[in-house]
Amino acid sequence: MTQLISWLSILIRCKNNIQEQITPLLKTLNQPQPNHGIGAGGDPIKQIDLAAENAIIHTIKKHKISFTLVSEESGVKEYGETPQEHYVTADPIDGTTNLMRGIPFYATSIAISTKPTLNTIHTALVADLTHGIIYTSQKGKGTYRNNQKITPSKTTSLEEAVIGIDLNTYKIQKIAPHLTDLIQKTKHIRHLGANALELCYVADGTTDAFIDIRGKLRTTDMAAAWLMIKEADANITTPEGKPLNVKLDPKQKVAFIATANQKIHKTILSLIKPEKETE
Ligand SMILES: [Mg+2]
Repeated sequence: MTQLISWLSILIRCKNNIQEQITPLLKTLNQPQPNHGIGAGGDPIKQIDLAAENAIIHTIKKHKISFTLVSEESGVKEYGETPQEHYVTADPIDGTTNLMRGIPFYATSIAISTKPTLNTIHTALVADLTHGIIYTSQKGKGTYRNNQKITPSKTTSLEEAVIGIDLNTYKIQKIAPHLTDLIQKTKHIRHLGANALELCYVADGTTDAFIDIRGKLRTTDMAAAWLMIKEADANITTPEGKPLNVKLDPKQKVAFIATANQKIHKTILSLIKPEKETE
């Protein structure tokens, strides 16, 4: 029955429902926020994260589909009689800090898979919630930005490249030695604060690479964007250059290098020193 479900249209409905639910909450952000405890991913849960997650659950339930939700907020939850049929891996709001501060760069990220593994994802959506941009992807069918097929950049020179690096970690002293050679040779470094969207920027050629070697990013944050990268024919590997193959679980952490093309991938891999050389 799986093939009869139009996951793409359901994901777009999820995104529309999220936007409807969070719009009134955006006006209350300067008021004291209720305490909802710590989410499955380890961050404090905000009311707006919960509203977005509920919007996803309600939308999928409306279609009478059994599924297992793998979410940054509630963890793993089963719905319906045959929840192992579909896995819905979601970061309802990626970039909540940006949202709370009024920085217009945050997204919804949802990936559908047949098993709780990255490489069984077949349909995904990442929606930039402030700019009206939706990235969608289906296995074997490419990646689209607002219905236009996208391709990554052909930039190979670090002089010209715009490279995103997530440096948000208390263990910066441990990871900095791996990155200094790359940072020194790169003219334009960015970090915008919503990793799912930053990966989509690599897929559509807005930037040329996005690097997160902290080992603390959750798979819920990058599952949907992983398919965007793969289907746009961009690259994503471990920092050692191996294929990423991880479980979809709120506690599963991931480190990766995502790039626009093979040439810049090789250049970046050669500049990021393997762990053992600096220890
Ligand atoms: Mg989140």
